[in-house]
Amino acid sequence: MTDDSVLVAGGGIAGLAVARALRQRGIRTFVSERMADAASGGLSIMLPGNAIMAFAELGLRNRLERLGEAVHRREYRSGSGRLLFEVDEDAFWGPLAQPRVLRRSELLDLLDDKHEDNRRSSAVVSVRPVDGGAEATFDDGHVERHGFVIGADGVRSAVRQSVFGEHEARFAVLSAAAFRWIAPNPGVDSYVGWTGEGSFLLIPLDRGEVYVFASATGGAGFEATPEWLERTFGSFPEPVRAVVAYARNHPEALHHSPIEEIRINEWTRGRVALIGDAAHATSPMWAQGGALAVEDAVVMADTLARGDWDSAGQRYERRRRKRVDHVQLATDQFSAAASLPIEVRERTMPEVGPKAYRAAYGPLREKLT
Ligand SMILES: Cc1cc2nc3c(=O)[nH]c(=O)nc-3n(C[C@H](O)[C@H](O)[C@H](O)COP(=O)(O)OP(=O)(O)OC[C@H]3O[C@@H](n4cnc5c(N)ncnc54)[C@H](O)[C@@H]3O)c2cc1C
Repeated sequence: MTDDSVLVAGGGIAGLAVARALRQRGIRTFVSERMADAASGGLSIMLPGNAIMAFAELGLRNRLERLGEAVHRREYRSGSGRLLFEVDEDAFWGPLAQPRVLRRSELLDLLDDKHEDNRRSSAVVSVRPVDGGAEATFDDGHVERHGFVIGADGVRSAVRQSVFGEHEARFAVLSAAAFRWIAPNPGVDSYVGWTGEGSFLLIPLDRGEVYVFASATGGAGFEATPEWLERTFGSFPEPVRAVVAYARNHPEALHHSPIEEIRINEWTRGRVALIGDAAHATSPMWAQGGALAVEDAVVMADTLARGDWDSAGQRYERRRRKRVDHVQLATDQFSAAASLPIEVRERTMPEVGPKAYRAAYGPLREKLT
């Protein structure tokens, strides 16, 4: 509305986080979210230690620690249940960055500062950088001018398309799609991933429930049916079979979605910048999408608060590129390892797995700059 206000397109993790961070710095901020209600309310999200550190930057660590469950340990197992490697998450991250898993609706509610300038059911159709700001056109046809526009509108970003042109999202190296659901916990007490014909993950939530993720391996697609789950995971150990049986009886609990990635070499033009999935959607191999979105938000807000909005986008991008490139590379490497022939995977994982974990997460323990 003015040359010193910021418009955020998208009220997901990245959008709500950046709006909160900007308002904390006294910058007038408007959020436009196309959905009337929080999306993906029934799903969960794993937050590794660097995500917890980014929430702490927003002043939300204590409230976050009251939601969901801490993840103390990870186990990676073969499809027959043999332990391939394990990781002590408590020792790796320390008490101030303990990973957690929680429901997405709770996470969005935590990030939402419920400010009157957060508008729901309002979609941005296009954005155009202009001298000293940017103009946004909304789905009802009205146009607004702001001092800066942030595209936090996800993998199919309208801001990205209008400012940077069409970019094909690519399917993830591990799997073109995934099933996710929440089921009663069949008795697992830590994060457990199994790898065989498909990839299967259980993470214990609060309230006696468990978060379930199931996908193909080797970049394959699959039929979005409970029968595919039964065929692919029917010979996996009992906890897996129990939650697959639950899905068979409760098909309404199943969410099927593509896993798409965005790799582009420009996130900013004039006074417009992309954050979160709009800039760099990445396969959840290391569960980094939410973490990177909140890190982007903190750095974007800090950069804008330092002034000179003509160069803020470039400065934000310079501060974020290395970390995002690192996550994308680590994602590709572990996705490729997880897609090797099963017998090779089972032979190499005990040695390669712990190294890959340390290589992926080690640099992310460093503080944001
Ligand atoms: C199968 C799967 C599992 C995953 N698991 C994890 C995990 O465990 N941990 C993790 O950290 N990450 C995970 N991710 C990634 C994570 O979900 C994303 O990285 C994260 O949601 C990105 O947040 P965002 O705000 O950038 O985008 P989004 O969550 O997509 O939010 C974008 C928002 O913008 C809105 N919007 C879209 N277009 C417009 C428009 N034109 N105008 C206004 N509003 C608009 C949307 O309605 C939405 O609310 C997973 C992803 C997938 C596919």
